[in-house]
Amino acid sequence: QTGDARAAQIPRYVRVNTTMWSLAEAVKYFTAQGFVLADGPLDSTTAPKSFAKDAHIPNLLLFPPQTAFHADAAYTAGKLILQDKASCFPAAVLAPPARKDAVVIDATAAPGNKTTHLSALMRNLGKVYAFERDRKRFGTLTTMVARAGCTNVAPVNADFLTVDPRDPKFARVTHILLDPSCSGSGIVNRLDHLLETEEENQEAQDERLNKLAAFQLMMIRHAMKFPKVSRIVYSTCSVHATENEHVVRAALRCDEAAAGPFGLAPREEVLPAWPRRGMAEEMDAPEDAAALIRCSPGEDATNGFFVSCFVRKEAIAPSAT
Ligand code: SAM
Repeated sequence: QTGDARAAQIPRYVRVNTTMWSLAEAVKYFTAQGFVLADGPLDSTTAPKSFAKDAHIPNLLLFPPQTAFHADAAYTAGKLILQDKASCFPAAVLAPPARKDAVVIDATAAPGNKTTHLSALMRNLGKVYAFERDRKRFGTLTTMVARAGCTNVAPVNADFLTVDPRDPKFARVTHILLDPSCSGSGIVNRLDHLLETEEENQEAQDERLNKLAAFQLMMIRHAMKFPKVSRIVYSTCSVHATENEHVVRAALRCDEAAAGPFGLAPREEVLPAWPRRGMAEEMDAPEDAAALIRCSPGEDATNGFFVSCFVRKEAIAPSAT
C-alpha cells in the first residue's frame, strides 16, 4: 500500500480550540451544516457525512478523510486546529497546570499546534514561553498563536539550547514540551520516499539518524537543567528506535537525569488506555517500554509517532525502621 493510500485512510482530525469555544458549541456548528454525530468510531457503516468524538483525546473530532476545512469559517477564525490525533498526545501527557502562576516551555514550537494545545489545556492562564529557532517558521508560530487567541503564550525567536536555565524568568518553569526536529519518518505520505532512500543509501541514513539523535538528546539534557522542572515530554514523528527508545535510554543514563533525579513517568500517567507502547527490546529495562507510547502508521489511524515523559523523582524517604 502506498503512503498516499494510507494517508487517505486516516480520519481528518480536528481539535476544537477550547480557548475560543466549547466542544458542545463545535458539535452544534457541524450538526447545523448537516453532519451527523456518530455514536462510535467512523467506519463503512456510518453515514457519509458523519463525525465522531475521539476515544482518547478530549475535544478532538474525527471526520471522513477527504473532508476539507481550509475554507471553513471556524477554521479560518482559529476555532479549529487541524492536528493529527498522535500530535495531540504530547500536550495531553504533559498535562500543564491551569493556574495563574503556571510557567511552561514549548522548546520547539512552530508551527504551533502543540503550543496552542498547551495554552488551551492551561485555560489561557499562566505563561507559555514558545521557542522557535527558525525565523520563517517563527512567523508562522506568531500568526497561529494570535489567531487561536492564546494570550498566555510568549513566542520567542531563539534557539532553546542558548536559553539560560538559571535566568530568573525561568525559575518557576515546571513543565517542558520538547518536540524537536526529527526524520519525520512516521508521516504517512512521506513513507514511499523514505522507503526509496532506505534502499538507496542505508549508510547515509544511519548517519543522518545518529546526528538527529545526538541533537535530540542534547535538547532533553538542556531541558533537565531547569531548576524547578518536574515534567518533560519528549516526542517525535519518527518510527526509528534511534530517535525514540535509544534517545530516551541515553537520556535516562545522562548526568542531568542522575542529578534531577529524573525517571520515566509510569504508564498510569502516560495515556494508559492507548495500547501501543514502546519497544521493550530497545530499552535497558524492558519494563520501561510500558511507560512509552508509539503510534504505528497504517495500524493506528494516525501518523507514526513516539511520546515519552520524564518526571523528577521525589527524594526517597529513608525507611522508618
Ligand atoms: N511542536 C510543533 C507543532 O506541534 O506544531 C512542531 C515542531 S517541529 C517537529 C520542530 C521545530 O523545532 C521546527 O520548527 C524547528 O525549526 C524547531 N527547532 C529545532 N531546533 C530548535 C532549537 N534548538 N531551538 C528552538 N527551535 C528549534
